[in-house]
Amino acid sequence: MISRRMFCGCALAACGLSASAANAQIACEYLTPQGQAGVSPTQAIQRLKDGNDRMLAGKSINCDANGMFRKAGAGQAPIAAIISCIDSRAAPEIVFDQHLGDIFVARVAGNIANVDIIGSLEYATKVAGAKAIVVLGHSKCGAIKSAVDGVKMGNITALLKQFEPALATLKPADGKRDSHNDVMVQKVALANAMLTAQNLTKRSAIIKKLVEDKQLSIVAAMEDVSTGKVTWL
Ligand SMILES: [Zn+2]
Repeated sequence: MISRRMFCGCALAACGLSASAANAQIACEYLTPQGQAGVSPTQAIQRLKDGNDRMLAGKSINCDANGMFRKAGAGQAPIAAIISCIDSRAAPEIVFDQHLGDIFVARVAGNIANVDIIGSLEYATKVAGAKAIVVLGHSKCGAIKSAVDGVKMGNITALLKQFEPALATLKPADGKRDSHNDVMVQKVALANAMLTAQNLTKRSAIIKKLVEDKQLSIVAAMEDVSTGKVTWL
């Protein structure tokens, strides 16, 4: 829980705050449009990297969500948008130690980008001002395993068709498709995250223009679900 003292609003030195308390103050400030405008695409990615480092160090910041909600009703100005799998171990707010109002999150099995997800990202960036998009794949992904095995089941069949470009990156040397092959599953998951990120500018003129104007960065990343560590691709 963050204390009221951390919201004093004075210069940190004058407040006598430690570095960790200063980090907590920044992390728990509810983002305003002015705050968002002061964050570059590079800085937005760095904040996510710093958050993952905090989580890995066991130093995740526990903000006063109740207090933050009291400011949230006025609007939102998140710095980034994340496409993540639905996997219970891939929750972006936890992985990146982000808090209320910090990030948009679009979650779908296998972190693919269909027209609804891309429309959501156009809103998050062009309309709401987010500075970065992260496509977050992860290890041991059930959706990827199902795609590798060619599962056919209900609406899952149509979902899995969207992994065909990533599956197409496999070579004969990778061996027979088998979800028990951890190396193969990881390779497809990584290709899927990379292709999803690369395709955003091809499938969205709005996102392409934001990237060209250097108002937006797009990055693919992989989370190890055994540790929570994010590797940036
Ligand atoms: Zn998954």
